[in-house]
Amino acid sequence: MTSFKEFADVCWQIEQISGSLEMTEVVSELLQDVSEEELPVVTHFVMGTVFPAWSSSQLGIGTKLLYTALSRSSGICENDIEKLVRETGDIGETAVISLSGQSKNQATFSSFLDEIPQLSILEVFERFSNISRASGKRSQATRIKNLQYIFSSCTPEEARYLSRLSIEDLRIGVGEGIVRDAISRSFDLTPKEVERAYMVTNDLGLVAGAAKHGGSEEVGKLSLKLNRPIKMMLAQITPGIEKAIAEIGIAAIEWKFDGARVQIHKDGDKITIFSRRQEDVTHSLPDIVSAVSQHVNADSAILDGEAVAMDKNGRPRPFQDILKRFRRKYDVQKSVREIPLTLNLFDILYFDGKDLIDLSLLERREILSSCVENAENIVVDEQVLTDDENMVNEIYDAALKAGHEGIMIKNPDAPYSPGKRGKNWLKKKPLMETLDLVVIGAEWGYGRRANMIGSYALACYDPENGNFLPIGKVATGITDEQLAKLTEMFSELIIFESGRSIELKPEVVFEIAFEEIQKSPNYKSGYALRFPRLVGVREDKSPEEAETSERIEHIYMSQRD
Ligand code: AMP
Repeated sequence: MTSFKEFADVCWQIEQISGSLEMTEVVSELLQDVSEEELPVVTHFVMGTVFPAWSSSQLGIGTKLLYTALSRSSGICENDIEKLVRETGDIGETAVISLSGQSKNQATFSSFLDEIPQLSILEVFERFSNISRASGKRSQATRIKNLQYIFSSCTPEEARYLSRLSIEDLRIGVGEGIVRDAISRSFDLTPKEVERAYMVTNDLGLVAGAAKHGGSEEVGKLSLKLNRPIKMMLAQITPGIEKAIAEIGIAAIEWKFDGARVQIHKDGDKITIFSRRQEDVTHSLPDIVSAVSQHVNADSAILDGEAVAMDKNGRPRPFQDILKRFRRKYDVQKSVREIPLTLNLFDILYFDGKDLIDLSLLERREILSSCVENAENIVVDEQVLTDDENMVNEIYDAALKAGHEGIMIKNPDAPYSPGKRGKNWLKKKPLMETLDLVVIGAEWGYGRRANMIGSYALACYDPENGNFLPIGKVATGITDEQLAKLTEMFSELIIFESGRSIELKPEVVFEIAFEEIQKSPNYKSGYALRFPRLVGVREDKSPEEAETSERIEHIYMSQRD
């Protein structure tokens, strides 16, 4: 049985490495060393997660709960724990410091025993599972008790990683890519075999387990499974219709509906709906459940589509309304009446026991059309096959006129690639202008980016009061090289630091690309950006020349014109 101490030692070792090849080697050794039973758990732990992404089990340990458990295990009051977190900027370091005194007691105690029983990896997983299952009146007490147990049974060095794992933020820089490569290296599989198995299972733990158990043959047997959501296929932006058609030739053109993605699993009479983030949203969408029950003729199926909320004039309502539907827990029927949804289906991945993802889009569509009867709130979306640019432009104009986002230009011969954003699905939307926003704050990065600033807080300008109003954060679109340069530039502008957060003198203006402006109570400006990406630094602009709050409002209002 592998001890958690061994896992913690490997984490420490990885934390000292910056190259991904070396990291892969260490992870690969770890995966080989543990038992078959431990392997799925360790595969997730090393990525800083406890349960696979598709699982409805959620750990749900907040910082407050963690502080309480640490406080009880160490005898240090919660306020002091919080203070330590602020000082160190890291719950792991805090756990080490606060439990160091405790370990002395343990050592004294241990002199009466032969050996302190070591916490095993599976025991930690068991405790986390107890925490995730806890419900009802005494759930908080159960969670604290289980956490306290593991902190009281470990050394301070183990606590560094136990505490980080409790909030699923391990900070050692190991992500899916490294684990995928490590699995293929450990068990002599091609990266392609691992990739495919991961696509159909959405669970690297399962892939690693199968690989250890029966190598290539066992991994090849893995396939889609009803009620286990897989990642959705994604689309790449195309700058132009002409370019897209030149690339694909005869393409399948569909409207790009303005709604929310759903993956629907029909398993006999049981219907489960997953959101784009693979959360089970079935309970909030009884209208979609009954539409699928009544109009999808299949014993079993996995369907892919977009749920759209329409207004009285048949135009899509704001995205926020759909979110309200998806998040609704109580009074669901009332919200069904207030915000009715239409399901536009555009793909099918599984039908009556058969996995369809390797079929071409055209073959899948044929099956989809044959098993769905279109009705008022469920339709197979229209698809036109053409390489005529004029026709594509007409469809594009019609989609925009109807209030939708644009069009999808799909390769009719392509398989369904779960989780992939590739050239087989292209999206064409009106080009959004970029925004020039002021950088007012930042956060230090994690892992190998710990010495660099990892994300930036952005603001627009309020000329009336001379204030900068926060509107969101940007962390994507920045290369390592850029990050290093920006870190150097911003280090001169730091006003105040607390933990990982930095307040910056508002001097630098970023040019930011984005998908959409949304209303948001989370930021003082009242707005937030969907998918912000850094385009560049506007060295020519002063902070006062950044976008004004008025202009942000104007763009927001005109988005759906
Ligand atoms: P984006 O979110 O901009 O990356 O665009 C991809 C999203 O468009 C998908 O995740 C779907 O939610 C949505 N979408 C709307 N209509 C379609 C369609 N006909 N085919 C595929 N995706 C669609």
